[in-house]
Amino acid sequence: MTQTHIFDVVIIGAGGAGLMAALYASRTARTAVLSKLYPIRSHTGAAQGGIGAALGNVEEDHWEWHAFDTVKGSDYLGDQDAIDFMCQEAVQSVYDLEHLGLPFSRMSDGRIAQRPFGGHTNNLTGKPVRRSCYAADRTGHMILQTLFQQCIKNQTLFFDEFQVLDLLIENGRAAGVVAVEIATSELHVFQAKAVIFATGGHGRVWEITSNAYSYTGDGVALTLRRGIPAEDMEFFQFHPTGIYKLGILITEAVRGEGGILLNNDGERFMERYAPHIKDLASRDVISRSMYLEMKAGKGINGQRYMLLDVRPETVNKYAELDGRTRPDGTPYRVTDQEILNKIPDITDFCITYLGIDPVKQPIPVQPTAHYAMGGIPTNKMGEVVIDDQGTVLPGLYAAGECACVSVHGANRLGTNSLVDLIVFGKHAGIRAAEYAAGVDFQPLPSDPTGPARQQIEKLSVGSGKEKAITIGREMKAVMFDHVGVFRTAEGLHAAIEKVRELRERFQQVRVSDSGKIFNTELLNTWELGNMLDLAWVTALAAEARTESRGGHAREDFPQRDDARWLKHSLAWFDGQSVRLSYKPVTITHYIPQERVY
Ligand SMILES: Cc1cc2nc3c(=O)[nH]c(=O)nc-3n(C[C@H](O)[C@H](O)[C@H](O)COP(=O)(O)OP(=O)(O)OC[C@H]3O[C@@H](n4cnc5c(N)ncnc54)[C@H](O)[C@@H]3O)c2cc1C
Repeated sequence: MTQTHIFDVVIIGAGGAGLMAALYASRTARTAVLSKLYPIRSHTGAAQGGIGAALGNVEEDHWEWHAFDTVKGSDYLGDQDAIDFMCQEAVQSVYDLEHLGLPFSRMSDGRIAQRPFGGHTNNLTGKPVRRSCYAADRTGHMILQTLFQQCIKNQTLFFDEFQVLDLLIENGRAAGVVAVEIATSELHVFQAKAVIFATGGHGRVWEITSNAYSYTGDGVALTLRRGIPAEDMEFFQFHPTGIYKLGILITEAVRGEGGILLNNDGERFMERYAPHIKDLASRDVISRSMYLEMKAGKGINGQRYMLLDVRPETVNKYAELDGRTRPDGTPYRVTDQEILNKIPDITDFCITYLGIDPVKQPIPVQPTAHYAMGGIPTNKMGEVVIDDQGTVLPGLYAAGECACVSVHGANRLGTNSLVDLIVFGKHAGIRAAEYAAGVDFQPLPSDPTGPARQQIEKLSVGSGKEKAITIGREMKAVMFDHVGVFRTAEGLHAAIEKVRELRERFQQVRVSDSGKIFNTELLNTWELGNMLDLAWVTALAAEARTESRGGHAREDFPQRDDARWLKHSLAWFDGQSVRLSYKPVTITHYIPQERVY
């Protein structure tokens, strides 16, 4: 028999956003956190480089500078009211994390250390500014551990390895969710006054990605099925430095610490594309530059990768040329040991996966699918917005990578996702608990688990002619080739046709495992269905946008076109066709200009 649980607030996801929401919601509301993973396996734990906040510990900095950099990084598609709010709150949020026990790396005087990151600048000089607060290259790991421990201390209730399959909406309000208990395959109903999605991203749609296996876009896909639009899905970030062929991330902090990108001629090619901040330009700019170099035959040995060189002799040579100094004004020079102390995990990854010690040999890198700028539309209080007029769906919230506030616009700046989780996770938690205190439960529909059951049962009745793994592989390849760093009408058309075909072939898939205990074949197949939906929406939104902006670069429309395209896309999906509409960007005081780094 289906079990029904009753809570004021149900949070789906136990990464940084979900745990932050849980910490705040559970102060006043009966709260449960559901997670398909054991919480500390959430992808937040993989974040390496840092969390951005204008503490100004090392040098002059202001939250307004952080806000301007974020607006510029977003290629002017970010909503400026939300960006101001986030950058202002970032400073206190970092101190809050410190007080919760997060072991940040420190300066010699004991204050939190900060390092440069792509696109973070002194707004007066245009030079890189040290804004990223970090715990070596394990910042996300430390955030996740710290928040999880705090939740345990506060006796937050966790349902680990419960995968949410459906959202219940009654009378136009959130009424709860349906989840499968992975260990038993049993369906559970969670009746709730408020539901917060914090399900992370969907980079597994692409072949080469830095993202964890769990990044299958469940939250966005299942809310789309319930008639909630997805915002700005054409914008997906390709991080410039994934390990060649594997996609494993080499954090931007490696360049922050002085690492340099080189082409086959041994040239520091970013000098030509971003003369002011070079290897610390924003990610979209660097990924595109790498592709252009490869196209011009300057990939290493003619292949589709470049070298990231963090050997002390290289770092020191370019630090001297750039006139880079340490916080105390002395010339910036590093030793093997200092590099190792700053990026211990990266060093381990390179030795484990490549047999390369980065202090002795350069690292082969290529752009890797990394971050979803788009997702479930929300306002800055985390409330889900369901149209172009700002109408909210009462009781429904989203935060973190699955949400689109939008603070990242067309391209996210490094370190800004962790800020986003902490700031908007917190406010979604507070707002959801406040809302729950003032309303009654919505009644449940007569057969609450019906639609979830149908979705699952469908996966066992196909002819079996098609294999999920083959469909997944073909989807990832076509998305990486044609809906990647550069896009064209022709390529997008080919991708759309291919995804259409794959979605049809998916109907023939039959899950062979009929067992009930940890049936991961069944759930992975369900996740593939989610990814096919998101691939479809992404490719269609990308085809429609005939301009280049941030992470969306059209070879056939190379210019940003503010007159026609300074607007967010909203996509609705009824299972068959996608409908697109648009809503304006909130501009307060940063007037769109040409972006130069
Ligand atoms: C390798 C890597 C390095 C990064 N480095 C940085 C960095 O240095 N700085 C920075 O700012 N950003 C960084 N990012 C980005 C940032 O880490 C992520 O965007 C962010 O951590 C996402 O947090 P989240 O809370 O939204 O999701 P996650 O931490 O991924 O959590 C998602 C949660 O949702 C749960 N979930 C998903 N689907 C379901 C479902 N159907 N049912 C139940 N539960 C579900 C999962 O179990 C998980 O608990 C990095 C990303 C990667 C991949």
